[in-house]
Amino acid sequence: MTTTTTTTPAKKRYKIGTRGASGRYPVTVDDKPSGDIHRFHGEWYARPHGHTNESRHADRHAAAQHLVTLVDSGDVDPNAPAAAESADVGGVVPWLSGRMQPTRRNIISAGIALARVAELAWTPQDENGATAPYPGSDNPWDLTCGLCGKTVKRWWSHLRGRNGDPTPRPAYRHKGCIDFEDQAAKVAALIGEPPTACPCHETDHPTTAEDVDRLLNLAERARRADDTDALRPLLAQLLGPCPASSARAESMKTFLPQPKPKN
Ligand SMILES: [Zn+2]
Ligand SMILES: [Zn+2]
Repeated sequence: MTTTTTTTPAKKRYKIGTRGASGRYPVTVDDKPSGDIHRFHGEWYARPHGHTNESRHADRHAAAQHLVTLVDSGDVDPNAPAAAESADVGGVVPWLSGRMQPTRRNIISAGIALARVAELAWTPQDENGATAPYPGSDNPWDLTCGLCGKTVKRWWSHLRGRNGDPTPRPAYRHKGCIDFEDQAAKVAALIGEPPTACPCHETDHPTTAEDVDRLLNLAERARRADDTDALRPLLAQLLGPCPASSARAESMKTFLPQPKPKN
């Protein structure tokens, strides 16, 4: 027989607010600002008020509870100025979030996403014109619409379509864009027929599977050696904007894990 100790559950001292534009939820502890939490790739991160470092937790409540611990230990000063809202910069290159390790798999995901948004006439940039790095599929991505110039937040998990159908869900671009019935024709006119070989002068972007694989292997070696200087030009080749980015992405797709054949 199991003996259960019944304790009155302590009243929760934290409150999780509504999600802000950057995807972070403000948290108060004892009604004082104590930091924020956000979800990234299925896990929750807590950032104490006035700090830029983050810690990883299993769920939102564990993340918020961690801030309570920091308040009690004196690590959070509710009167400290808020940390700058730029935690997502600092990647090795501007096209991959600094929050995503430049692993082979993440580079491939980013390369495919970057090519597809270009095909759909979106530019990954925020309203100030700064490049918005690929944030992973489940995080908001600042994309500027090539049809009307508006910057909106979209999720790659929606844009990529599903079950082999690449049509974005929902199919409409965003509120306030040009008329829906004119969108497809305007995208086609903007994109035209993309080249299959890289025409760039400064950077030689790969388009064949062989070249993609070679560069991915070099990038993996540089990442494991923590050699950022070697990694940067490789990532520029693999992820930098290129008129032939669709051909590059098609080659990258050949290195995705193959779906299991149906019996
Ligand atoms: Zn638009
Ligand atoms: Zn190129």
